Amino acid sequence: MAAAAVAAVAPPYGPARPDPINMEWEGDDEQMDAVMAAFDERAMDQRESTDTMAMLAFYRFLLPWKSLFTWLNHDLVQRPGKLFDHREFAFTLQNDAYLRYNSFGTWQELQKEVVRLNPARFEIGPVYSGKPKDKKNASKNSFRPQFRELVFDIDMTDYDEIRTCCTGKGICKRCWAFIAVAVQVLEDALRNDFGFKHLLWVYSGRRGIHCWVSDRSACSLADDARKAIVGWLEVVRGSANQNKKVDTGAGMPGRSLHPSLRRALGQDGAPGPLSIAFAEVVLRDQDCFRDKQGWERLLALLPPKETEAIQKLRTKWESAGPKGSKSSLEKWQDVMAHAKKKEEVWKPYCEDIILQYTYPRIDAEVSKHLNHLLKSPFVVHPATGRVCVPLDVSSVHVFDPEKDCPTVAQLLREQDAYIRQLKRDGKHHKQDGGIVDPNVHAWDHTSLRPFVELFDKHNAAIVKETDALRRAKLAQSVDF
Ligand SMILES: [Zn+2]
Repeated sequence: MAAAAVAAVAPPYGPARPDPINMEWEGDDEQMDAVMAAFDERAMDQRESTDTMAMLAFYRFLLPWKSLFTWLNHDLVQRPGKLFDHREFAFTLQNDAYLRYNSFGTWQELQKEVVRLNPARFEIGPVYSGKPKDKKNASKNSFRPQFRELVFDIDMTDYDEIRTCCTGKGICKRCWAFIAVAVQVLEDALRNDFGFKHLLWVYSGRRGIHCWVSDRSACSLADDARKAIVGWLEVVRGSANQNKKVDTGAGMPGRSLHPSLRRALGQDGAPGPLSIAFAEVVLRDQDCFRDKQGWERLLALLPPKETEAIQKLRTKWESAGPKGSKSSLEKWQDVMAHAKKKEEVWKPYCEDIILQYTYPRIDAEVSKHLNHLLKSPFVVHPATGRVCVPLDVSSVHVFDPEKDCPTVAQLLREQDAYIRQLKRDGKHHKQDGGIVDPNVHAWDHTSLRPFVELFDKHNAAIVKETDALRRAKLAQSVDF
């Protein structure tokens, strides 16, 4: 849908919706007061809904637009370029209408439109050869996607068959451990095997994580190259009813693992991240092989020709009865006792099992196409009210999605408290002879701050590379 058609769509908010907000740009605290008075705190406290008033205030005061611009533009706000103004934005409105092919010249234009539409969420697409908003005037050949981040999506949905703590839409710190090890391994593969440097990990707001790779070499990849990378990283494959999902040729003579998988599993007696996660998460915490369904799944993954050994294990585990059932750790030790006797046969299968339970389960379709749209960092997840915040890769394992992710309601309360404090201190209107606008960088006074700072640090490295590229080009142009 072209930009002109967007304007023709009815505003997402009907007459029933309160409209006390002044859309003018000069922020003032009365607007904030109006927001605080209007949004339904009880609904927000349930953390299961997002109030449209709160969303509007979030877009208006809290979302770090400049940082978002810099990230997409690969350059500072003073230097807007094609990477931003040829970039597609797609909006999902509160009434579920989906508006594609929007583009903007500056972060202010983008913010203004988001505030006008107050979408439930917005997504980021590729940089096209023409401006997306002018698509309707462009011929098909002159409007092609050219550049976009290489993206990955890991979702807890794909772990439903192996996690034991939660089901469905639930997520807790315990099953987040699967995501944490996936991040560690994918980060390692993308940096060491592909040489990418600018990786941004963003919590999806409910039960997953996205990775955006901004290296120019990654953004320029065509679809077939993206598919090749995904194919390489897609170690765990197959549908829910398929038992064996990893095939590294375990039954083949002389099978050797790819160095990347070997590194993740561990070598020379030193366990790698997957083996550690297998012991800590799969065996100890999730106890995946405790019940019959779990241990039958394990038995079905052992070397198929070892029927006698498998039957012995089954008899042993069944004889303990459902109540006295051995722990997963004890069962794995039983498996290892057999494996030690015939290592060349058992070891490859045991490694496949570790891979199947711990290797990143990526949603391959998200990564394969240059023109795929993915939810922007810092939008609010409509079902949880949580902000999709960037995460520091070194502390993903300690992140608790239920406690450590700010919600839009929480941020607005913090912002409101800050304004009230300014008023109490009499600093609200004048400071050093100037006017304090509490809504400039409002996130600065909320728990969103560390996440924005992390994002800015990430962006600074991208901008630095753009600077270097610019200097190199300049040097080339004056070099006779
Ligand atoms: Zn859980």
